[in-house]
Amino acid sequence: ERKRMEEQFLQAQKMEAVGRLAGGVAHDFNNLLTVINGYSELLLGSLPPGAPARADLEEIFNAGKRAASLTRQLLAFSRKQVTQPASIDLNVLVSSLRKMLERLVGEDVKIAFAPGADLDLVMADPGQIEQVIVNLVVNARDAMPRGGKIAIETGNALLDEAYAALHPDMNPGAHVRLTVADAGVGMTDEVKAHLFEPFFTTKEKGKGTGLGLSTVHGIVKHAGGAIEVESEVGRGTRFRIYIPRAGSGGQVVAPVPPVRNSKGTETILVAEDQETVRRLAKVVLEAAGYRVLMAADGTEALRLAESHEGPIHLLLTDMVMRSMSGAELAKLVRREHPETRVLFISGYAERGLEEIGAAAAFLQKPFTLEGLRGKVREVLDAPMGGLS
Ligand code: ADP
Repeated sequence: ERKRMEEQFLQAQKMEAVGRLAGGVAHDFNNLLTVINGYSELLLGSLPPGAPARADLEEIFNAGKRAASLTRQLLAFSRKQVTQPASIDLNVLVSSLRKMLERLVGEDVKIAFAPGADLDLVMADPGQIEQVIVNLVVNARDAMPRGGKIAIETGNALLDEAYAALHPDMNPGAHVRLTVADAGVGMTDEVKAHLFEPFFTTKEKGKGTGLGLSTVHGIVKHAGGAIEVESEVGRGTRFRIYIPRAGSGGQVVAPVPPVRNSKGTETILVAEDQETVRRLAKVVLEAAGYRVLMAADGTEALRLAESHEGPIHLLLTDMVMRSMSGAELAKLVRREHPETRVLFISGYAERGLEEIGAAAAFLQKPFTLEGLRGKVREVLDAPMGGLS
């Protein structure tokens, strides 16, 4: 028993260290990727369709997008990702992902979805739960190289005391269960023992990163849930994810339809300490018609806010800056300009800022240009009350 505890402790320490490293690296990476992806996108937009440089640029842009999804995985498993929890209906979420999943698994693999009836809502970050589903489905596909069927199921599950006692990481109570099952190669006990470790992979070099399931683990833990794995070599694997039912009274969020008209004439104050990211935001927003004021940190942003005569419709601020945090800055700017709405951007969450709540507007770095324009418009058009 003591030996087992020791091992668990060492494992937890290892995860903690890797997580800290990942969070630190991802902050800088996300700034760099914002610049690489943003400027590639700008250039792509300015080239005519048949231009010879287009294919090369597209390669850069696609590699940048893959890198961005890798840092997202790192952040999720190290739990340094900013989360915006909301009440979600897993049936709606899976249905809306279905097309994308089918494209992902290819023609030889079929996806069967059996939505549970009267499914309870869960409180979690919708983007993260998407990541969980995508990771599980990709693994299921890889386990069936000659094709087959992936079964996705949802259902309500009441875990009782006895069950929780047998499964130390589960809490008794009402949960929603998400099952992803395949009839693939299955796993040996050895693989099962290391499954959730970061960088553990049995896939050939270049195919697996070993971050998929450690990400899933981080996300599910963060949502207060647990994971169960059943697998048999040669027969297949079944992952069951349990997420606690959301308390009543939560607001259900439907996926937000993309904003179509993302132009405007309002005044935006940009506070961002990375010069290249700041310049990118300026170029993009000015091209969309906005008037842009630029500040390299909180102090400068405050000075600008004080001396600016007209209204400042939006403060676009990095969450993590040298002199003061984005949240502090927002508070001070709104003393001077109560009309100002706030949109936070960040590459990762500092301690205490992991959860900014559904009411605050947030954009994850690296953002796409359309993502930036769309989010800015969305925040400017939202009713004022919800964004304090
Ligand atoms: P990666 O997919 O990059 O290898 P993961 O953390 O997602 O990283 O998975 C780790 C390992 O777990 C995989 O390499 C594979 O050996 C095993 N695994 C995960 N899901 C399945 C599955 N559905 N069937 C068989 N093995 C699996």
